[in-house]
Amino acid sequence: MKKTSPQQAIRDIQHFGEEGGVVPVIDVASTSTFLDPKDMERTFMGELQGCYLYSRHSNPTVNIFGKKMAAMESAEAALGVASGMAAIACTVDQIFLNEGVKKGHLIASRTVYGGTYALFKNVLPSRGIDVTFKEITDLKAIEAAIRPDTKVIYAETLSNPLLAVSDIKALSEICKRHHIKLVIDNTFTPMIVQPLLHGADVVIHSCTKYISGSSDFIAGAIVGTEKFIASLIDVNTGSVMLTGPVMDPRVAHELYLRLDHLELRMKAHSNMANFLANKMQAEKMPVIYPGLSVHPQHELLKKMMNKDFGFGGILTLECADADQARRLATKLQDEKFGLYAVSLGFSRTLMSCSAKSTSSEIPEEEQKEIGLTQGLLRFSIGYTGDPEVMWERFLKSYNKIIFN
Ligand code: PLP
Repeated sequence: MKKTSPQQAIRDIQHFGEEGGVVPVIDVASTSTFLDPKDMERTFMGELQGCYLYSRHSNPTVNIFGKKMAAMESAEAALGVASGMAAIACTVDQIFLNEGVKKGHLIASRTVYGGTYALFKNVLPSRGIDVTFKEITDLKAIEAAIRPDTKVIYAETLSNPLLAVSDIKALSEICKRHHIKLVIDNTFTPMIVQPLLHGADVVIHSCTKYISGSSDFIAGAIVGTEKFIASLIDVNTGSVMLTGPVMDPRVAHELYLRLDHLELRMKAHSNMANFLANKMQAEKMPVIYPGLSVHPQHELLKKMMNKDFGFGGILTLECADADQARRLATKLQDEKFGLYAVSLGFSRTLMSCSAKSTSSEIPEEEQKEIGLTQGLLRFSIGYTGDPEVMWERFLKSYNKIIFN
């Protein structure tokens, strides 16, 4: 049978409002009644499934959002949480909890979002988890770093901000050989890549980004097997249940609706980014974009991605130094090319100097080692506007700052 596309899978999730409305209602209740007190007790004991208890445990609106997220990732289940960081922290905690170990080891890609880096470097060791950072494209180094107590390999499909592509299938083969879980942050590439289909065990998303698409919510999701997702809300050992970073049902409802047009938005982001990256390349600008054939993992990403979605909306440009990057970004903001702001996935272009902002948690020496320069300007390319007009604005600003 033909594989169901992520857009078809999302489309086939359908929930009606109470009176037959074409959209579901928002169930805001923080707690639910039981007709028989025994059922409440059995729910607490884990003997009875399917009853709503308390919204830190589960909520009907958050659940239907989870169903759509699971459909998008071709997964059994998903759980909406309060942020991308909550998704990462709770996932890692849960894997160690489920293994029943108090100590252990995690291998992470050395080019990950700065917040993830700081969590792994500064917080996990205090919980008994050692972390080794390795270049994610160096599969030999990753395998060599495995210890008997390694439980997790963690990577981003497309790394923030260097845009290195993780070979999910090869990483998964390593994980399977050593009984390790592979966790993939798919924030940059929703719908473009479905990491579970390439062997990942858990996928996390910062829904703050493309899934929201309007830079108006902080939200996250954890996607995986029924069993893993259920373990996150276990009343005795669930990391989400017991640390509490749940998704608000109003946010879940909004994101549930927005998932229907994520397909169109991702394609539009990719089209605009691809157009601009090709223009930049033709002008011999130092642009990095995975859609360009010169990108070192262009072919790898092509093999992993779903067709028609393009290569995503993120590109980077190397400026001479931080000062030049700042001046270029300021000019681009003045010319209404984009907004100087962190984050990504917004309908309009967002720009930031990664080394000084979303990767500033990584010490400068390490930034140098991983090839993150002070002059790197990251663009989350928006889809609004006329491509030719946006390019004119870019070229004018670039020529003014770089050549004057
Ligand atoms: N993962 C990636 C790749 C990110 O870029 C970010 C934030 O920028 C996060 C996770 C964290 O997400 P949130 O800000 O929703 O907590």
